[in-house]
Amino acid sequence: MNTDYDVIIVGGGPAALAAAVYTCRALLKTVIFEKQYVGGQLVGTDLIENYPGFPEVISGVDLIQRMEAQARRFGVEIRYEEVMKLQVENGLKIVTTDTGTYGSHAVILAAGAEPKKLGVPGEKELYGKGVSYCATCDGAFFRGKDVVVVGGGDSAITEAIFLTKYANTVNIIHRRGEFRATKIYLDEAMSNPKIKVAFNTIIESIHGQDKVDGIVAQNVITKDKKEMPCQGVFVFIGSVPNTGFLGDLLCVDVGCHIETNIHMETSIEGLYAVGDIRKNSYRQIATAIGEGVTAAIAAEHKLSELRALGKEKKIDLGKTKKED
Ligand SMILES: Cc1cc2nc3c(=O)[nH]c(=O)nc-3n(C[C@H](O)[C@H](O)[C@H](O)COP(=O)(O)OP(=O)(O)OC[C@H]3O[C@@H](n4cnc5c(N)ncnc54)[C@H](O)[C@@H]3O)c2cc1C
Repeated sequence: MNTDYDVIIVGGGPAALAAAVYTCRALLKTVIFEKQYVGGQLVGTDLIENYPGFPEVISGVDLIQRMEAQARRFGVEIRYEEVMKLQVENGLKIVTTDTGTYGSHAVILAAGAEPKKLGVPGEKELYGKGVSYCATCDGAFFRGKDVVVVGGGDSAITEAIFLTKYANTVNIIHRRGEFRATKIYLDEAMSNPKIKVAFNTIIESIHGQDKVDGIVAQNVITKDKKEMPCQGVFVFIGSVPNTGFLGDLLCVDVGCHIETNIHMETSIEGLYAVGDIRKNSYRQIATAIGEGVTAAIAAEHKLSELRALGKEKKIDLGKTKKED
């Protein structure tokens, strides 16, 4: 087992890179394991208007390149390995990737989440061309357009309200006969003249050549189908955190987000969760960054504590800390 690293970070999105800047600057030897490409969801994001410090829009790729360059400047090691398993033995976190096994007393989980998909024809093909999973991110591109929102929970209703700032009409399509969302949100949505609702309805397919131009919706009770012209389809039917590699270490249910305290620490000492993988995260770049930084500082404190207590054997060996 490789125990060279003070801090192991799982995932290479914005939360991970922010954490790495802080752990590396604290002279903690840090590795990021990324299964695909550095940048996570930012790589597929065209224009970012709401990340502070960039008064002009910046593309996701530009922003992530800057974050990566900054983390590398402070010495982070990025290894393109998929994390397959995480175990804890006597406080040591053992991370198994598709290439090797690594042990560390501080592990930051930043593996993100993926929006749940409808799985209907046209959804994949028109993703980024009218199909979206993020109203905060993409809503402003739908000024004066007609959009549909799919879902019936708090996020679908609040995002539908948000979209009325830009869109001409917002049609909420919900497969059940009533919403699950909180009453206060529902009252606001139902009194908004731009919002219409189709209950007991599902999307059968999404249409368009280069951009969305409509959907076919089906009533699940009558089985009637109808075409609905629209330029945007916003899907809010939940998200799936990338927690499969944890087995039952932290999550009881498959697909659950990870709970933490305010220091981003999970129920396991020295194990942190940040960004979209975390329960109650606001799922924005800026919040992922803040959570990554919080976990990095907390991990640094934890490792200092452990070193002081003489528990952290690898660091006691003075292998990686310059001052040891
Ligand atoms: C289309 C779109 C547009 C968006 N636009 C905006 C916007 O304008 N502004 C904004 O603030 N937010 C926006 N967001 C949200 C923002 O991108 C996310 O909140 C943010 O990327 C979360 O960062 P993260 O580091 O937690 O996770 P992610 O970005 O999801 O990164 C997680 C990384 O972990 C890797 N990974 C997963 N499992 C493993 C494993 N087992 N082993 C190794 N690596 C693994 C993944 O490959 C990925 O690279 C947008 C999201 C989408 C989808």
